[in-house]
Amino acid sequence: MKGQMMNVPLTITEIMRHADRVNGDTEIVSVTYDNPRHRYTLSDAFSRTRQLANALKSLGLKKGQRVATLAWNDYRHLELYYAISCSGGVLHTVNPRLFEQQIEYIISHAEDTIVFFDPLFAPLIEKLQSKLATVNHFIALTDHAHLPESQIENLLDYESFIADRSTVFTWPELEEDDASSLCYTSGTTGHPKGVLYSHRSTVLHSLGSALPDAFGLSIDECVMPIVPMFHVNGWGLAYSAPMTGTKLVMPGPKMADGATLTELINNEGVTMTAGVPVVWLMLLEHLKQSELQVPSLKRIVVGGSACPEVLIREFDELFNVSMHHAWGMTEMSPLGTFNKLKPKLRSLADEKKMGYQLKQGRIVFGVDMRIEDWQGNQVPWDGHQFGSVKVRGPWIASGYYKQGESVDSNGYFDTGDVASIDPDGYMQITDRSKDVIKSGGEWISSIELENIAVGHPDIKEAAVIGVSHNKWGERPLLIAVTHDVTVTESELLAHFDGKVAKFCIPDAVEFINELPHTATGKLSKKDLRDHFKDYVLG
Ligand code: ADP
Repeated sequence: MKGQMMNVPLTITEIMRHADRVNGDTEIVSVTYDNPRHRYTLSDAFSRTRQLANALKSLGLKKGQRVATLAWNDYRHLELYYAISCSGGVLHTVNPRLFEQQIEYIISHAEDTIVFFDPLFAPLIEKLQSKLATVNHFIALTDHAHLPESQIENLLDYESFIADRSTVFTWPELEEDDASSLCYTSGTTGHPKGVLYSHRSTVLHSLGSALPDAFGLSIDECVMPIVPMFHVNGWGLAYSAPMTGTKLVMPGPKMADGATLTELINNEGVTMTAGVPVVWLMLLEHLKQSELQVPSLKRIVVGGSACPEVLIREFDELFNVSMHHAWGMTEMSPLGTFNKLKPKLRSLADEKKMGYQLKQGRIVFGVDMRIEDWQGNQVPWDGHQFGSVKVRGPWIASGYYKQGESVDSNGYFDTGDVASIDPDGYMQITDRSKDVIKSGGEWISSIELENIAVGHPDIKEAAVIGVSHNKWGERPLLIAVTHDVTVTESELLAHFDGKVAKFCIPDAVEFINELPHTATGKLSKKDLRDHFKDYVLG
């Protein structure tokens, strides 16, 4: 017997309709290239979104057509998010921090026809334009007066593009599995790969991620996303905040500017913010130096890479702000887990409590997870054994754009992360599957060894990679950057004694001046593996 409920499609248009009607007076505050403080309401935003939809229609935007944005977090980008997807087009957010060749590849692979860009990226567009064969229109996100000097052909400015358009637009009826947006993973190996979100996946992710024990959004909150809207789907906040009536504060190109962030938090009453650890290290430093407080700020969500203990401790002790680990990836829209301590864990002794806070958190409803060993057997949730993290759910990618399905025989997506889960459901990332060191049938976590290495006072940065070994298959090699001091190999290796099992201790240490990083600032173990591929252990 089937249920007798309405089958209303879950679309971003419905988020917009609801937000406009119910949360229309919610404020949106932005910093842009041409305005240090822009302020309007969600109603204003959606009125301009309808003008933009009319303008896009005049360019002949068709269903499924891809439209690129290279833009910071601000109100015009928000309007593009809704106008493109709700018109039936596909919003393709491009990460301007990628290498030029990657951006050219991504735009060509997606066959984008229109590119909206922040004027700050005009030099980049100027360089690339002749190689972007599919693009017919370039539109700078500013008004005519602020249009940058450039050689970009047929360049339009956004304000002229939407001015004089009607504020009435009849949104098309869309199906919930229609594509809504596209975001490429930065691709530490090979070409970047496109993740194609649907209206349905976006709506469900917005609902799941807004829950009280995840982002906890509501009309009482004011969120400042520092995670860029061009990367990992901006953690979906451009949808979940309007949906819940949460005030949005968007710092535009000032995302790495401690003074601007502090001022925005204090003037706008920001209660929650979200971003990667380096941003919070920067803000912490700024707050300590300027001796300012941020009384409205209650929570910081941190993800993208593991959060250092010092951040959690100092934000709590010095500023009364609680930090929450979140984990996910572009392929997961992105939220998979969120760390909020269960009541019984909050009264633990500090060290024990920190042990839990450092974990990546518990899966949010909507994500099904399993941990498998290298033979594909499920690993128990005992907090010790670790394995490959596989996920399944309505906001998880089933494959990559133009590449078909990429799920295993059980229908799960392999995240490429390695983790354990404890009996309370807290997941802890121990490594990436390609970085884990496979030594004689045992897995050794490179991250655990790196954390111990940087715990040595003379070590600035460290990486551990597996190098081939006749007997064990692979053994760990520690590559370290020191502060301006000389620590010896044996001194450094002695530092591991008693901290890990003997077989996990690296076989050797190489000291270098600098470690290689990817375009998104993550440590590039691929480059290190290439560099040390012929390394012979003594
Ligand atoms: P890319 O940087 O390759 O474009 P993503 O930004 O989607 O891709 O990165 C996702 C990866 O980032 C995850 O697979 C995981 O390895 C890492 N990651 C995300 N959140 C966390 C976290 N809280 N702790 C540790 N690692 C994380």
